[in-house]
Amino acid sequence: MAETGSARWGTARLDGGKVLRWSLLHVGALVGGACFFSWSAVAVFAGLTAVTMCLGVSVGLHRGLIHRAFRASAPVERALALLGTLAGLGGPIAMSRMHDLRDFHQNQPEADCPPYFGYREGFTRAMAYALFHTWHPRDGAPDAPAAPRVTQDGFFRGLERAGPWLQAPLALALYALGGAPWVAWGILVRLALTQDGFWCVHYVSHVEGEQPYELPGCAEQGRNAGWLALLSMGESWHNTHHVYPASAQMGLGWRQPDPGWWAVRGLAALRLVHDVKSLAHLPPRLGARLRRPEPRRTRRLCALALRRA
Ligand SMILES: [Zn+2]
Ligand SMILES: [Zn+2]
Repeated sequence: MAETGSARWGTARLDGGKVLRWSLLHVGALVGGACFFSWSAVAVFAGLTAVTMCLGVSVGLHRGLIHRAFRASAPVERALALLGTLAGLGGPIAMSRMHDLRDFHQNQPEADCPPYFGYREGFTRAMAYALFHTWHPRDGAPDAPAAPRVTQDGFFRGLERAGPWLQAPLALALYALGGAPWVAWGILVRLALTQDGFWCVHYVSHVEGEQPYELPGCAEQGRNAGWLALLSMGESWHNTHHVYPASAQMGLGWRQPDPGWWAVRGLAALRLVHDVKSLAHLPPRLGARLRRPEPRRTRRLCALALRRA
């Protein structure tokens, strides 16, 4: 493994296993998607992506398990976590650890936030770090263990162990219902685009868009990238999320569409979740300051400067 970036808290190393898995998945998606194209398969791809990313990753794992922005019974929490794991980005324990580790480093002053967790080296570098590198904390560096209620739950541990094998029963069901095209698009193309799309959204929502709040002393403060709102399930209202991390709501009002928030409200209406925290009920994070909206031209220049820095 090559060492490509080190800092006070640890080192990012190129991970051959990640490169190999990503390459095989993308070759499979390209060949399978081209050889077995059908419009019903594209619809299956779109439907499964929306359900796994919205109800699974955004609502179940991110807003629910990681931020505890609402409460749910164990069966509901587990069903949402199952959908989230089927997105193929990682199980509930790995996703919680990854989120909290990024959070810890992004909230350090700029000098102490390694490029692996920041977005100062441009799009290509950020994607290469996220997709092909692994973070190795130094001895004694602060770790970010996931909450014991996640790591010690037998069902969540089972999801974590199952990992990619969880796709096998879904693939069999898709094959039985729609043949090879449904498997190619519902599994291979979906997993490949979910991985790339997730990290693209991450990158854009840190470098492009409005920043109504500032968090002095924090290396990364997120930006509100409105044009990505529907595709990201509302997660691209990311400056708002940095300032109100405990809120299940990320978009404010009808001008800021937030599909994840709509899903939480739907689940609450069905009495499947309760104690939902919204922007109206929470104070901004300690130290956050509202700043005047930036003109569009300044925003563009800031994003360009960040990419070139
Ligand atoms: Zn962020
Ligand atoms: Zn978060």
